[in-house]
Amino acid sequence: MVEANSIAAKDHLAYMEYALSLAKQAPPKPTNFCVGAVLVDEVTNGILATGYTMELPGNTHAEQCCLAKFEGKALSDDEVLKRLVLYTTMEPCNKRASGNAPCTETILKTNFDGKSGIKAVYVGVQEPVKFVGQNTGKAKLEEAGIEYIHVSGLEDDILAVATAGHK
Ligand code: ZN
Repeated sequence: MVEANSIAAKDHLAYMEYALSLAKQAPPKPTNFCVGAVLVDEVTNGILATGYTMELPGNTHAEQCCLAKFEGKALSDDEVLKRLVLYTTMEPCNKRASGNAPCTETILKTNFDGKSGIKAVYVGVQEPVKFVGQNTGKAKLEEAGIEYIHVSGLEDDILAVATAGHK
């Protein structure tokens, strides 16, 4: 179930670049951000799932698509589920105008077959205060014991891609 992967283990910047390449596949729209996400098993360095904004039908977010695509996959090793990390180009949302579950909630609920879920979220940029006001996703994740780690170096590119459809 692991995709071929040329990224070195824990090369967070390279994983973020990969997430950014996924974000570029999202259709630019004035009403949302184009974001990419990658779910990784930090121990085997395997890519378990990827996602980008509106990849799945509906007004879907990158993290939502990534986790939805993963959920159907069977993992034989229970321990795998304790070492999942999520890379996302933008801070997971905490509020959605569309009525969908916020990605922060989806990440917190990640509980595949009753096993522990994602242990860390690597983020490229904070969500700009534009559509739903201040994002409190970071605080929520940290409160739940999920590490929130900013990967710096790609902010300008990430924001340019994220706001491609904006005026
Ligand atoms: Zn979201």
